Amino acid sequence: MFTLSGNPARPGIRHAAWLLLLACADCIHAAPPARATWFPDSPTFRHYTWDDQPCPGCKALNPQAAWTRMAQLAGLPALRFMVAADENGGQAHALAPDTVVLSPAALKLESCQLAFLVGHEIVHIAQRHFDEDAIALSVFSGRPAHWTHEGAAAMQLIDGNFGLALRVSHLWQQQEQDADWMGALLAAQACGCSLEAGALAYFRDDDSGGGMAAAHASSTQRMLQLQPFSESAQRLAHRALH
Ligand SMILES: [Zn+2]
Repeated sequence: MFTLSGNPARPGIRHAAWLLLLACADCIHAAPPARATWFPDSPTFRHYTWDDQPCPGCKALNPQAAWTRMAQLAGLPALRFMVAADENGGQAHALAPDTVVLSPAALKLESCQLAFLVGHEIVHIAQRHFDEDAIALSVFSGRPAHWTHEGAAAMQLIDGNFGLALRVSHLWQQQEQDADWMGALLAAQACGCSLEAGALAYFRDDDSGGGMAAAHASSTQRMLQLQPFSESAQRLAHRALH
C-alpha cells in the first residue's frame, strides 16, 4: 500500500547533484535537528498493535545522516531502516509501526531523489497511516474501530474484498498526496534538496501509478500536486544550505 515503484536507477551523476551531495556531506556534521515546526503532530486516533511484519530477505540498513535528520524532523528518532532482497516490493515501502524498507535500486538513486523517497515513507509512519487504514477498514466493514487491538487483523478485512478497497481508495490517495508534499519538504529541510532535484526529478522518470483503486496517482498528476509546495521547499532548502 505504501509503495513507490518503478523508476530504475539512472547511471551517472550530474554536476548539480554533486553540489547537493557536497551540501549533504556538510549537513552530516550539523547538530541533530529539532522536530520541524511545520510538520503535523502525530495523530491521536486509535493506535493498534503492530507485530513485526514479515520482510523476507530484508537486512538492517545503516541510515544515511540525511535520513536520520528527516526522521528527527518528523518526530521519529527511533526509526529503523532495512534493505530488501530485490525489487518485488517496489523501490520503497513503510512497514508498521517503525520501519522503512528500501530496494537495492533505490539505494542507487541520486541523493535528493533518495531523500525524497525516504521522506515519503517517513511521513506514512509519522502520520500513522497504517492505523488510519485499520480504522477505515473496520468502520467501512460495519465494525467499531475497537473490535480488535491487532492492526494485522484489521488489515485482513481487505483480503479479497475489492469493494472495500474501492471504498478506502480515496483515503489512500490522500495519504499518498500528504506523503509526497511532506516528504519533499523533509528532504528540503534536512539536506537542502529543492523540489526539482528531489521529488520532481524522481517522478520525471517514474511511469508507475494509476490503475483502479490505486493509491498512487500518475507521476504527472503527482508533480502537479506538488507545485503549491515549491516555494516552501525552496525556502527550507535555502535555509539548510546557508
Ligand atoms: Zn506512499
